[in-house]
Amino acid sequence: MRKVAILGATGSIGASALDVIARHPQRFRVTALAAHRKVDELVALCVRFRPEVAVIADSAFAASLRQKLTAAGVAARVASGEEGLREAAASADSDTVIAAIVGAAGLDSTLAAARAGKRVLLANKEAVVMAGALLFEALRSGGGELIPIDSEHNAIFQCLPSGKPDLVRAGVRRVLLTASGGPFRGRVRSELGAITPEQACAHPNWMMGRKISVDSATLMNKGLEVIEAHWLFGVAPEQIDVVVHRESIVHSLVEYVDGSVLAQLGNPDMRTALAHALAWPERIEAGVAALDLLKIAQLNFEAPDRATFRCLDLAYHALAVGGTAPTVLNAANEIAVAAFLERTLPFLAIPELIEATLGGVPAIAAQDLEAVIYADLTARQYAQRIIRRDFC
Ligand code: NDP
Ligand code: MG
Repeated sequence: MRKVAILGATGSIGASALDVIARHPQRFRVTALAAHRKVDELVALCVRFRPEVAVIADSAFAASLRQKLTAAGVAARVASGEEGLREAAASADSDTVIAAIVGAAGLDSTLAAARAGKRVLLANKEAVVMAGALLFEALRSGGGELIPIDSEHNAIFQCLPSGKPDLVRAGVRRVLLTASGGPFRGRVRSELGAITPEQACAHPNWMMGRKISVDSATLMNKGLEVIEAHWLFGVAPEQIDVVVHRESIVHSLVEYVDGSVLAQLGNPDMRTALAHALAWPERIEAGVAALDLLKIAQLNFEAPDRATFRCLDLAYHALAVGGTAPTVLNAANEIAVAAFLERTLPFLAIPELIEATLGGVPAIAAQDLEAVIYADLTARQYAQRIIRRDFC
């Protein structure tokens, strides 16, 4: 029986994870569920999955959560704030932690799960972008393991020799991340000036949270994934390529020196990656429809439009600079996306703001958590100053 804590339980990944878990009550038990502010949604999940602990990250909602759980007849203990998240991530009650909080807010608890030696199912890509070296150090020192949930990285994980392969010995030449191209694939710059949050969040293939939906529309999602692939698989930036594949059926590929290319295919449904990671190395039913290749008939591939969607190159640039540059990239992007969703920042200003922040906040060595947090905060303040100066 796997004992699973889900951080970000009320989100899109949380819902997919709980759907898979509910199909296998004899295999999985939910030990902790955490949300940010959505108390009613969290209570409904607690009624259904009966965790030992319910965590609300915004402590102002703790009393309300406690009261509603009691009214619903749920005996779960209530924890709150960063400390509550950390506690749920590291608790001896669980052996598996699904890190599915969106953004930098997930870093602390993801690191706590790694240090505590858990099996970390990583969706929170921002944590590895911000602090990849520290996360892997924490996994090593804690004796834990990381299994990627991000569909591309889960696909690559499936296409690599199992265990912890030495990629050179295994003969890996490069990894290819596929990208759907987002809702604006094929558009030119002049067509993107008046994009609204609703248009940016209407992804053609995937149902996701709003932040990652905007990241998909700008191609920053793929940029973050390039950095994620670097840390997860130890591949150099020049060994990571991006190919646009609009059907989102091939989730990513690994090319070997002998000319073999292994790919993982499936319908675009996050439950496949979640089921794979939850049961690994076994396979379990995920509720995902079988892939009908005859119905799909065609798979298309094209190069990304790097001139229109500049965020991809900004991410490669940050990875090449190293140190805290990816932390700065991520922080500026989070501020830019939030401002875009609040209709303060135009869509095309997102890469401009990130580029200006990368230029204005020098990278330092990311040797410890303090350096990373300092870079994150400095970049947020810098980006916010530009927004106030130029867009308010
Ligand atoms: P959602 O916006 O749907 O959900 C986010 C979750 O995080 C919610 O449970 C939310 O709680 C919680 N949360 C938000 N802010 C905080 C905070 N400050 N402290 C604690 N919890 C917080 O996002 P997704 O599920 O789409 O994405 C989650 C992560 O997974 C992201 O990093 C994303 O990049 C990654 N991912 C997502 C994929 C997808 O298909 N959705 C695919 C691959 C990766 P509340 O509901 O209370 O606000
Ligand atoms: Mg992805």
